[in-house]
Amino acid sequence: MTPSTLRIGYRYRPARLAPEYDAIVIGSGMGGLTTAALLSELGWKVCVLEQHYTAGGYTHSYERNGYEWDVGVHYIGDVGAQTQTRKMFDFLSGGRLEWAPMAAEYDRFYIGDKVFNAKAGKQEFRDNLLRQFPDEQQAIDDYMKLLAGSGGALSAFGMGRAMKPWQQSLAQPFLNWKTPDVFFRNTYDVLRELTDNKDLIAVLCGQWGDMGLPPKQSTFMVHAMIARHYLYGGYYPVGGAWKIADSIIPKIQKAGGEVFTYARVNQILVEDGKVRGVEMKDGHRIDCDCVISSAGVDNTFNHLLSADVVEQSSYENKLANVQPSFAHLGVYVGLARTAEELGLPRTNYWIYPSNDYDAAVDAFLKDKHAPFPVVYISFPSAKDPDYLNRHPGTATIEIVAPAPYEWFAEWRDSTWGKRGEDYDNFKAQLGERLMEHLYDKVPQTRGQVDYFEVSTPLSTDWFGGYHHGELYGLAHTPERMQQKWLRPQTLIPGLWLTGQDVLTCGVTGAMMAGMLTTMSMVGTRKMAPLMKQIYS
Ligand SMILES: Cc1cc2nc3c(=O)[nH]c(=O)nc-3n(C[C@H](O)[C@H](O)[C@H](O)COP(=O)(O)OP(=O)(O)OC[C@H]3O[C@@H](n4cnc5c(N)ncnc54)[C@H](O)[C@@H]3O)c2cc1C
Repeated sequence: MTPSTLRIGYRYRPARLAPEYDAIVIGSGMGGLTTAALLSELGWKVCVLEQHYTAGGYTHSYERNGYEWDVGVHYIGDVGAQTQTRKMFDFLSGGRLEWAPMAAEYDRFYIGDKVFNAKAGKQEFRDNLLRQFPDEQQAIDDYMKLLAGSGGALSAFGMGRAMKPWQQSLAQPFLNWKTPDVFFRNTYDVLRELTDNKDLIAVLCGQWGDMGLPPKQSTFMVHAMIARHYLYGGYYPVGGAWKIADSIIPKIQKAGGEVFTYARVNQILVEDGKVRGVEMKDGHRIDCDCVISSAGVDNTFNHLLSADVVEQSSYENKLANVQPSFAHLGVYVGLARTAEELGLPRTNYWIYPSNDYDAAVDAFLKDKHAPFPVVYISFPSAKDPDYLNRHPGTATIEIVAPAPYEWFAEWRDSTWGKRGEDYDNFKAQLGERLMEHLYDKVPQTRGQVDYFEVSTPLSTDWFGGYHHGELYGLAHTPERMQQKWLRPQTLIPGLWLTGQDVLTCGVTGAMMAGMLTTMSMVGTRKMAPLMKQIYS
């Protein structure tokens, strides 16, 4: 397979580095780029180091055989009006990022042999649920109230993470008062108190794949955050997901910084108890007393810091309270006809074997021949009004499904594209199974597929640096969401965290983590004018 030619960022060479930087950011995902761009706006010169050959982390796209696919962006909510999310995207991208709305029915759920959907708009969402479940008005209205009531608590949760420990202690009574009882309970238990209708619970949890945990394992807080995020529908970045990073990088360059690709950090250097810089894979040392890691908690504490530093700073015990999220398979499909010709929808499909999501996950983890507990199908070229300008006469489809990393662990030390026949056969079988789901739900695509390829958790490790193939960094369990040490400021002076592990997964979750990290670093006094500029 030939590597993608779609590249953004500047290829790292030691000679291309500036003599000095105010900060180093490890990882060019949404968390890293947001932090770097906001610091740049405040006059910092920031060096972003990305191990992949293109910038953007999970927001990157790739091209092969004349097709272009995204790896970690299918839809983004809350950008159809002048919301806080939209204002932040506008600011970071200098207004260059445009959004295309999906269909009003943005998510469709195939649950066993029944079909339900989610409709854009708070009232439309509620009324549509009621049409599908006419006997459940009370439960539906109670659910909408729970969502509405969680807005302030979600903001307070975020602000709590940005506070210093002493500020957090002082603010704790207020934060507790703001936090509804249901927040850290599991999603299923909370919804079960509203209704015993299992189909309704399944529909309300139909987006569980957006956080990677089925309802009996997930936190209601994250469920509510995602449900609110998409309440007004789904949007797609015009020109493809790679436009996100492409539109943010100029802000970093304008302040004298740069986003380097092929730039793998081997170690965060800590000397005399303080951060002193990083050592690159090629052995080059970059001195800087401020390092922000957006490479995830597992990478930062288990791979980039020495074991001594982790032990001395007492992170070892804390790490026992968090686990990696699920790993996944991706199928990237290319068709030599357009989305319009094929009648592909601007709706995501979620396919479930039954309304008991947790049981389906358990069965699948025990037996790889059991039905996939969820199959997600997305139609990016149908969502992107600019796609045909870049790839005329074609269409693309992406399929995502869970798969444990352990199934592939025996090939972990092999090289991408050269993992051998057994691996290729195994992933081809899995890919064929997933393609059958596509043909079942979109039968007109049968016979029209020109090309498809399959990614496994090893691809996620290879390209994204996630050593367990994690889909969303740390698993969003109730226990994880209550770990107060998952915050921007670490116990190691000069080391900061950002990205999806600080707050929650999602492009917006990582972006908001970037904002919180910047605020923690510079303080609210310096941040206030910038916030005013962004949100006015
Ligand atoms: C299949 C899939 C579908 C998704 N769909 C959506 C969606 O539709 N909508 C949505 O909002 N979210 C979606 N997400 C989630 C979203 O993409 C992520 O939560 C978010 O982009 C994470 O951003 P981040 O900056 O925290 O991490 P990342 O984007 O993962 O960035 C971390 C970066 O660090 C780099 N790195 C790691 N180690 C090193 C090192 N040693 N040296 C240098 N660089 C290093 C990695 O290469 C990576 O680029 C999806 C994710 C996946 C996997």
